Amino acid sequence: MIAGPCSAETQDQMLTIAHQVKQSGVEIFRAGVWKPRTRPNTFEGVGEEGLGWLNEVKRETGMLTATEIATSGHAELALKHDIDVLWIGARSTVSPFVVQEIADAIRGTDKIVLVKNPVSPDLALWTGAFERLQQANVVNLGAIHRGFTTYGSSVYRNQPNWPLALDFKNQLPEIPLICDPSHIAGVRDFVAPLAKEALELGYHGLMIETHHTPDSAWSDAKQQITPETLSALMTELVDLYQSVDHTCPNKALQKLRYKVDIFDQQLINTLALRMKTTNDIGMLKKQHGIEILKANRWEEVIHRMLALAKENGLPESFIENTFNMIHEESLKQQLSLHN
Ligand code: PEP
Ligand code: MN
Repeated sequence: MIAGPCSAETQDQMLTIAHQVKQSGVEIFRAGVWKPRTRPNTFEGVGEEGLGWLNEVKRETGMLTATEIATSGHAELALKHDIDVLWIGARSTVSPFVVQEIADAIRGTDKIVLVKNPVSPDLALWTGAFERLQQANVVNLGAIHRGFTTYGSSVYRNQPNWPLALDFKNQLPEIPLICDPSHIAGVRDFVAPLAKEALELGYHGLMIETHHTPDSAWSDAKQQITPETLSALMTELVDLYQSVDHTCPNKALQKLRYKVDIFDQQLINTLALRMKTTNDIGMLKKQHGIEILKANRWEEVIHRMLALAKENGLPESFIENTFNMIHEESLKQQLSLHN
């Protein structure tokens, strides 16, 4: 279990959280000192000074320390300050240049190096980062699954895409796989259920953002949980671990169900976008007094869809019925704009 705040803020903050999470059995303390922020003019981390605070945490609690490195400069400083665990963040894993620069800077290190999945759902980019590190003789490696960016609204801040992470596990079974439910969730209520899901899927560990006053955290305030919540969650996880059948023959079934869930969600997202677009068309028709139903246009669409159905081995009647239903609803919504 890796826990600690998203960002190192002050030495007091770090020591307060560290002493509390240590009591629940956390072995590795995390805190970002260089923060990759999506937007400028937000808190970008305390920098090198925070590495000294991590060492103070280690001295007082005996926990290992972990921080994110995103440049060769960060890597050199983290090694100089003898930080135990270095992680490459999701926004760095997407860039082969950045990963190579880091691999070169830490060549031959025996530190633990964890690689977060890239923000985009690209398995090769993730496994490629491991190849670069292995070629630089970095051997103590682990992977962190923190979810994938999607455009548009979604319950999670980052889509879990469990099948991709499980494919990673199949491709590189020798690399321990850790789940970061905090960055998948984006809000604290989803952290515990995601952590349990990961445990049931056979992950090797968890990284959970923990803060003694999460609402006033300087970054990722919504998703951090308190050390008390973490402690309760760890008790539940231990119980769950003991009750999970680790040789469950249903793993394959579970994996396929996750895949289906993702497709269903994509279908809904696409339907919503389609409906929004046909409503925009409806508005234009209304403004310019154009009639709503144009039979030719719909015949053309159906014709194209039936050809595609054939190409993809889908029954034509099923596609025809489905598209007629979608069309009917679009027309209904366009008509209601006119009334
Ligand atoms: C973090 O761990 O705080 C972080 C920035 O993570 P990610 O690279 O997964 O966004
Ligand atoms: Mn964070």
